[in-house]
Amino acid sequence: MQIEKVYEPQRFEPHWAQWWIDSGIFRAAAKAPGKVFSLVIPPPNVTGSLHIGHMLEHTEIDVTIRWHRMQGDNTLWLPGTDHAGIATQMVVERKLAEEGIQRRDLGREGFEKRVWEWKAQYGDTIKRQMIRLGASCDWSRERFTLDPGLSRAVREVFVQLYEKGLIYRGEYMVNWCPRCHTAISDLETAHSDIASHMWHLRYPVVGMEGRFVVVATTRPETMLGDTAVAINPKDERYRDLHGRTVMLPLMNREIPIILDELADPEFGTGVVKVTPAHDPNDFEAGRRHNLAKIQVIDENGKMTAAAGAYAGLDRAEARQRVLADLEAQGVLAKTEDYTLSLGRCDRCKTAVEPLISTQWFVKTKPLAERAIEAVEKGRIVFIPANWSKTYFEWMYNIRDWCISRQLWWGHRIPAWHCQECREIVVAREAPKTCPRCGSEELVQDTDVLDTWFSSGLWPFSTLGWPDQTEDLATYYPTSLMITGFDILFFWVARMAMLGLEFMGDVPFRHVYIHGLVRDAERQKMSKTKGNVVDPLVVTDKYGTDAVRMALLQGAAPGTDIVLTEERMESSRAFANKIWNAARFLFLNMERSGVETWVPDKLEEFRPQADPVSLSVPVEDRWIFSRLNSCAEQVNRAIGQYRYHEAAQALWQFFWHEFCDWYLELKKLEFQEGSGLTPGWRNTLAAFEKALRLLHPAMPFLTEELWQRLAAGSGKRPASIAIAPYPQYRKEATDFAAEREIEILQQVITMARTLRTESKLDPKLALEGVLYSRNTALELVQRHAEAIRKLAGVTLEFKAEAAPKAKAIKSTAEFDLVLHLPKAQEEAQRKRMEKEREQLAKNIANSERQLKDPTFLGRAPAHVVESIRQKLADYEAQLRKLDDAL
Ligand SMILES: [Zn+2]
Ligand SMILES: [Zn+2]
Repeated sequence: MQIEKVYEPQRFEPHWAQWWIDSGIFRAAAKAPGKVFSLVIPPPNVTGSLHIGHMLEHTEIDVTIRWHRMQGDNTLWLPGTDHAGIATQMVVERKLAEEGIQRRDLGREGFEKRVWEWKAQYGDTIKRQMIRLGASCDWSRERFTLDPGLSRAVREVFVQLYEKGLIYRGEYMVNWCPRCHTAISDLETAHSDIASHMWHLRYPVVGMEGRFVVVATTRPETMLGDTAVAINPKDERYRDLHGRTVMLPLMNREIPIILDELADPEFGTGVVKVTPAHDPNDFEAGRRHNLAKIQVIDENGKMTAAAGAYAGLDRAEARQRVLADLEAQGVLAKTEDYTLSLGRCDRCKTAVEPLISTQWFVKTKPLAERAIEAVEKGRIVFIPANWSKTYFEWMYNIRDWCISRQLWWGHRIPAWHCQECREIVVAREAPKTCPRCGSEELVQDTDVLDTWFSSGLWPFSTLGWPDQTEDLATYYPTSLMITGFDILFFWVARMAMLGLEFMGDVPFRHVYIHGLVRDAERQKMSKTKGNVVDPLVVTDKYGTDAVRMALLQGAAPGTDIVLTEERMESSRAFANKIWNAARFLFLNMERSGVETWVPDKLEEFRPQADPVSLSVPVEDRWIFSRLNSCAEQVNRAIGQYRYHEAAQALWQFFWHEFCDWYLELKKLEFQEGSGLTPGWRNTLAAFEKALRLLHPAMPFLTEELWQRLAAGSGKRPASIAIAPYPQYRKEATDFAAEREIEILQQVITMARTLRTESKLDPKLALEGVLYSRNTALELVQRHAEAIRKLAGVTLEFKAEAAPKAKAIKSTAEFDLVLHLPKAQEEAQRKRMEKEREQLAKNIANSERQLKDPTFLGRAPAHVVESIRQKLADYEAQLRKLDDAL
């Protein structure tokens, strides 16, 4: 039994990470016995690499999964990645740009091929990192949102929703890049502040001579497309304008004054112009009031024919001409400086233009109703519970979901446009002819689906749907979803809606929402702040187990997680403590020729006496009782997602009970004998059980030690990861043993405290008296020897009340009073020595003054006399002290 002196996790973590995969112990089987526990991973972006938020999420998932697996549940953690439309397309485009290639140069198919090549080369970064960090996924069931099976599910859902009338085409305002000629998402739009102006324009009210409304705008050229002005219905200043119209300057078009909340009486004049074709808020207002949408700027950023005299001008030039004309006509009331947040295309820095386009939508109201009901009725439970409020708020105000994106990377929309009759055919497979006119001229829609569309199906598409597979029957609904609050709407809500619609059941029963990982100053981590913790760097430095433990300790539900170097450092010290405990045990096993040992039936082992005629050592009974209590706390805590409590309970038990007390007591026995005594089976069994308790939190260290402990024992499971998880048994609590050891601990702690307080040499052997009129005294007497060795105190026991004295410690609970006379003497001696030092200093000072001729020459006689008097006093005190010492 060899074990390295130093805990070096880098030496064994990669080995077990790979061994777990190779041995197939994380592979689930639909037919396996046991209660089902299943979870699908929130699929990370295929372009991504692991950040500390992933590591937190995966640690919480892994703890839960390993815990269920060890309880014999039929456990599945299904891993995979998301194709992440825009994010991936941008990564590959950037790479192509380095080669001087544009996406359009390759054409759609060529570009898609390059993305797949990129994926084959870099797409498994996350997977490799997850394996390295011990995520106990079933990699044989790994999925990718663009897998053929998942793509089939996407088409099936699209077609069914379309057939049910839940998918339609409609107008939508997009961010358009006039240079790249594409709609771009918010992700690709970079906002920056620029110095600009706010122009105030006077629109005359029709039929009210001399009456104007003043509107303010940062984009005067869009006024050409105004189709209304809005006032707030509650704004008393404009009550006389209800039902009126204004004349749009330059265009001489009569447009209505509408009553709408869009106008804020507190802001500006309280009147706003409404340009439904060029502003997203105005677009919505236009919808509410059925306004015409007049497009005055086109896809190239040029003015359209609808812009009248300005047609054909570039939008920037048009602005100047419009402003000049407005000024000339006396419409321009005021020009103010104004800082404006301008959105630019991330790729070419051109200012984006909001434009109306035709997009595909999902009608979400009917889907949302069932998803709301599922949470109301408790079929989906949010933890912490207050997230359900956020969920409801969003679901009650849900708007139709725009699912089309003008990208090349993603699920192509399964719709074909007939070039002859404009019919749109939605189908699972490409149709040969148009069902309306028989034409063969069919062109597939060029848009792809929003990436959340496919991830919304993730809980069932990954299990084989639309086929009725065994996996689907077994593992759906999944048991738990652990994810971040930022994708509650994007993802969790959509899974709920689509799962209920297509599976007729919720996609998961519990949703645990974890917090953010923050730095020591509780700041959000960001690249610009430079406070980002790279999980791979810190796991290299401290070991994966230590980082996991540090994350878990902070992972209280409903709070953010503060991750500091100190916490990782102390978690590493914790791992090291366990390593050293193992080293001590292994060393002694070796000395007594015991190679490996674990009990045959792990869970049934009870502390035993050997030979049978002797009683079981009380510390053995105690440690098993404490293990039982720790198992109770940890099982309850993990079951309630209170990971921080589980971590604390494990830490307290392993460090402060097993190592600090139990092993210290056992070492005494060992020092007397040589190597293991037969009773040491209890010690090994307790250690083995404690490793199992700790395994979900610190899988590598526990596997490493457990394998060394158990290697060669034939009846054991192949891995600690599938060994039974210790469960609480009421009858295993040994109150008598707990009381006896607690009393012993208190006496030793009292003695140690007295020693420290009196600043005594820790090795100095002391004599003491323990007073008690309680039965506790008898129990302590049994441990006189342990107290002598662990506290360095030889005790005399007196069943009487303690006298009044110094150097006393007492415990209220057991009426124990410890008196260490030597400590008292020592403390007094120390005090006197200190006093003596001070006196010697005073004497030296006085003597120096009295010998100083300058001082003596200047000081009045009575001052000199008083110093002489003081000196005499000091000397007298010193003699007294010396006598006493
Ligand atoms: Zn652009
Ligand atoms: Zn047709």
